[in-house]
Amino acid sequence: MPLLFITLPMSSTIVVKIGTSSLTQPETGQLALSTIASVAETLCQLQQENYGVILVSSGAVGVGCARLHLTERPKSIALKQAVAAVGQGRLMRVYDDLFTTLQQPIAQVLLTRSDLVQRSHYLNVYNTLQELLALGVIPVVNENDTVAVDELKFGDNDTLSALVASLVEAETLFLLTDVDRLYSADPRYVKDARPIPLINNMEELNALQIDTGDSGSQWGTGGMVTKIAAARIATTSGVRMVITQGRNPQNIVKILQGEPIGTHFSPHPEPTSARKRWIAYGLVPSGKLYLDHGAVTAISQQGKSLLAAGINIIEGVFDTQNAVQLCDRNGNEIARGLVNYNSQELEKICGSHSSEIRSILGYEGAETVIHRDNLVLI
Ligand code: GLU
Repeated sequence: MPLLFITLPMSSTIVVKIGTSSLTQPETGQLALSTIASVAETLCQLQQENYGVILVSSGAVGVGCARLHLTERPKSIALKQAVAAVGQGRLMRVYDDLFTTLQQPIAQVLLTRSDLVQRSHYLNVYNTLQELLALGVIPVVNENDTVAVDELKFGDNDTLSALVASLVEAETLFLLTDVDRLYSADPRYVKDARPIPLINNMEELNALQIDTGDSGSQWGTGGMVTKIAAARIATTSGVRMVITQGRNPQNIVKILQGEPIGTHFSPHPEPTSARKRWIAYGLVPSGKLYLDHGAVTAISQQGKSLLAAGINIIEGVFDTQNAVQLCDRNGNEIARGLVNYNSQELEKICGSHSSEIRSILGYEGAETVIHRDNLVLI
């Protein structure tokens, strides 16, 4: 008689990001095997509880350094890329051994920033991840450090994990790091730094005026700045984000059961749509438009499209349908969008009324410079 496999519908997806500082021993840079084993056990447990699970793991450069007995993180790009090629293989070997012992298939997914720029590529990454999850596989994601070029880099895996969580519309993104939660200042140096258990929205976070210091350890690239940037991407995409300690991965299960561990960032109640998330976070902007006060208000408070009349200055060279940043007079970014005119055309029509565009350019153009359907507030 044929066997019948009954697969329960997947409940929800969680993305877990672990940083180099949690994966390696602080002094030697060797792998922290007990932590990695505990990550594997925890993720398998969640997979068996019917969660879709994605692991975003750093460590290619750190592990490569340990393998090659380098005593500090490489400074030159070529060396860093070579070292990452050594470390990524080693890292996957360790993960695969541990997960295979637990009967859990995994997959390596290496991404570069340019994989998300083309909408068709972006959707392709989405489809592949969904397919892997449907097969019960845990994808292990990292930036493809060996080929990534500087201008087109995620740069840090906090950002990468938030983009992945946004792409798959995860329920929760866990950032596992070397501190147990977010503090008002760096607790390693500031004695009376206050722990912050919950951030309801980004305005609350701004009001706390957190002293984020600079990057974390000598091996990682993160630190709290990139975690807060990740929180912005995740929460506006409707994903809850939790910062918690990497040395205790089993806390993930407790947090999902409702225990108040770590720092929780609540998801935005009205998340940005999938296409607008791609405009905001998938695309790499090729220019900047500085707007006058009226245009800033119309866009940010009245949900209006951008017209040529509201543009003061154009920066960068871009084509029609490229993404650009929209800034107020002080250079603060307020929105991103896809332009209906290239930079040369915009130089000619900026500041003009829409009805004048035809006579300035000598041909009929779009009424708006960026239609509100292609515009997303940052
Ligand atoms: N992709 C880098 C690595 O695997 C890590 C980036 C980061 O530390 O956030 O070494």
